[in-house]
Amino acid sequence: MSQAQFDSLIFARWMITVETDGEILENHAIALKDGRIAAILPAAEARQLVADEVIELDRHVLMPGLINLHGHSAMTLLRGLADDKALMDWLNNHIWPAEGRHVRDEFVFDGSLIAMAEMLRGGTTTINDMYFYHGAVARAGLSSGMRTFVGCSILEFPTNYGVNADDYIAKGMAERREFLGEERITFTLAPHAPYTVSDDTFRKVVTLAEQEDMLIHCHIHETADEVAGSIEQHHQRPLARLQQLGMLSPRLVAAHMVHLNDEEIELAARHGVSIAHNPTSNMKLASGIAPVQKLLTAGVNVGVGTDGAASNNKLDMLSETRMSALLAKVGTLDPTAVPAATAIRMATLNGAKALGIDDQVGSIKVGKQADLIAVDLAAIETAPTFDPVSHIVYAAGREQVTHTWVAGECLLKDRVLTRLNLADLLAKGEDWRGRILAKGE
Ligand SMILES: [Zn+2]
Repeated sequence: MSQAQFDSLIFARWMITVETDGEILENHAIALKDGRIAAILPAAEARQLVADEVIELDRHVLMPGLINLHGHSAMTLLRGLADDKALMDWLNNHIWPAEGRHVRDEFVFDGSLIAMAEMLRGGTTTINDMYFYHGAVARAGLSSGMRTFVGCSILEFPTNYGVNADDYIAKGMAERREFLGEERITFTLAPHAPYTVSDDTFRKVVTLAEQEDMLIHCHIHETADEVAGSIEQHHQRPLARLQQLGMLSPRLVAAHMVHLNDEEIELAARHGVSIAHNPTSNMKLASGIAPVQKLLTAGVNVGVGTDGAASNNKLDMLSETRMSALLAKVGTLDPTAVPAATAIRMATLNGAKALGIDDQVGSIKVGKQADLIAVDLAAIETAPTFDPVSHIVYAAGREQVTHTWVAGECLLKDRVLTRLNLADLLAKGEDWRGRILAKGE
């Protein structure tokens, strides 16, 4: 038995705690015990402590792991299959047919693992996913070690996975029961969008979420067409309809929320709705620019997501953090909108808050789970360093992420994945490419 006081001691040149915007601790260390942050102290004092493992990050920033608040992991297998299309053309004529031909349990497991390998290499420690074959997503989460929120997609129309909304709900809830004891796996209810889900189903989802204490994850106000379609079909905008159905609450993680008027921003704030902002997906599908600075000013909790690899096409949360800062500026013609420290908080603590785990992760604080990443700033691309917060948002690339820990377990060590085998995953990707091409698109 080890006599060490701590499991690990991590010394870092800089630490971005996210406890206070822009706070940077220089030459500090953190001590880990049983997967949690047990102490944060100046390096000189930490040298007196005893730990099983000592990690020296003398050129690095240590910061909370990035939280990808909206994604469809398995869609890595459809990456680059259809680009430069409008959302409904992209969905109806490309993505949904391809999913119909290929999406089964094995596809989802392999695609999700490839996504998780990419995300862990880029410093993402938590994914809020939404897809089908939830058992496969959860098993991929357990294999990779990522904190995984498994969104049970609910639609009115049939896919390979289900025949109607009740069937999707029943299957999702049955799969959830198998993973209830897993600390890193959480199931959520994911009605796809206002234009694919009926009033009746939304009401059922709200009731079930309250009964089972589950989050709700839904695409909302993504495009101007969605809003116009709702006015035509329901004689009201999607958010007003969802409010009447009881959907607006702190349980809701609303993905996109691009097209919002001032009343809707106030509505989201009043009901404690969290938003997953997906800047690159919104740019690529030409959905528009979400009013992020207005939302933040109104007190709405806004996190950051990548969306799926078919509409981004990178699951790169550092890049997404940068885009969040840049798009807010060009959208308002105000260079002070979403400053760097705010963008980092959105990609970490705000994501944790949206998922109801901000007491556990999202910042560097004693007692929290050690979901952490290290970014090496000694690269020429980030030389010299005046302000690590600036570099993380505006200059560093995901290639500079050297370490990723989830609950104190090092899943990426000196750029090497500790649980997943990259060569195996590359072979699986190649195998799927062959299968998808063989069946046409
Ligand atoms: Zn999405």
